Amino acid sequence: MNAIKDKMLGCFYGQAVGDALGLGTEFLNKDEVHKHYPNGLSRYENIIQDAHRRRWHKGAWTDDTDMMLCILNGFDNGKFDILQVAKNFKDWADGEPMGIGAHTFKVLAMGDYVEKHDECSRLWWELSRRQSAANGALMRTSIVGLVQNNFIEQTEDICRLTHYDPRCIGSCVIATSIIHNLVWNDKPLSYEEIKNIGSKYDVRLEEWIDLAYKRKYISELDLDETHSIGYTLRTLAAALWCYWHANSFESGLLAVVNEGGDADTNAAISCAILGAKYGYNAIPEYYIKSLYKEREYRHKVDNFISFATNEKNSN
Ligand SMILES: [Mg+2]
Repeated sequence: MNAIKDKMLGCFYGQAVGDALGLGTEFLNKDEVHKHYPNGLSRYENIIQDAHRRRWHKGAWTDDTDMMLCILNGFDNGKFDILQVAKNFKDWADGEPMGIGAHTFKVLAMGDYVEKHDECSRLWWELSRRQSAANGALMRTSIVGLVQNNFIEQTEDICRLTHYDPRCIGSCVIATSIIHNLVWNDKPLSYEEIKNIGSKYDVRLEEWIDLAYKRKYISELDLDETHSIGYTLRTLAAALWCYWHANSFESGLLAVVNEGGDADTNAAISCAILGAKYGYNAIPEYYIKSLYKEREYRHKVDNFISFATNEKNSN
C-alpha cells in the first residue's frame, strides 16, 4: 500500500474506532469513568450496557461516522455534491438517527431542509442568538480533508449544511487542513500555521489552540466539563492535543476516550487525525477487526480511496 492510501485508510479507521470506543465513556465524568472502568476502557467488549449505550452493538460507531458516510455517499467525480450530501443527511435523520445532536436534529427536522439547507442552518444559528457552536460538523468532517482539490471550500460548505457559526467552520477547516497536509503533502502543520488558519475564522479559536499546544496533560482540557459539553472548540482542543502530544495512535485513543465527556466525538476526530498521521498500519489490529460492520465499512472506504486517488474514473 502506498503512503497516501495508508494514511487515508488510517484516517477512516481512526474516525470509526475512536467513535466506537468513545461511546463507552460518552456523557460520563472522570469519576464515573473510573467507577465503571477501574483499569480504563480499552476494549469494545467492556463497554457498559446502560440505557444510553445498549442501543448500539459493542464495537459499533455512532452518529459521527454515520454522518461521515453520508458525506462519503455524496462524493462524485472528485468532489462532494453538496445537494446530495444534504439529501443523505435528511434521509439519515428521517430514519433512525441514533445519537443525533440537538442542534443537528433541529436543522435536519425542517420539512424543506434539502432545498433550503442554507436558510435552515442559518435560521437555527440566528435563533440561538449566534451562540450555538456545537461539534456536530467537526465530528463528521475528516473525510473532506482526503480530497485532492478545493478541500477548504468543500469543508466550509459541508460544515454550513448544519452549523453556521464561524467557530464551527474554523474548527472543521483546521481539522481537514491537518489531515490534507499529512495525507497529500506528508507535512505536519505547525502551531503557527494552525493559528493562522484559526484567525481567518474567529478570534475565539486562539485560546483553545494555545490550550491544546501548551498543556502537557489531556486532563487539563477538562473534556468532561458538563456545562458546555459538545462545544466545537473543546473538541478541537482534544484533537489538537492528540495531534501534538500523543506519540502513538493507541496512546491518543486511550487518552481521549478515558477523559469522558463527549468522548465519541472527541475521539472520532482526534483519531481520524492520528490515523492520518501514523497510518493504517499503526492502528492495533484488534480495534479494526472488532469493529461492528467492519467489512461493510472497508468496502465503502476502499471504493472512496480508489476514486479519490484517481484509480477509478468516476462517472
Ligand atoms: Mg456520537
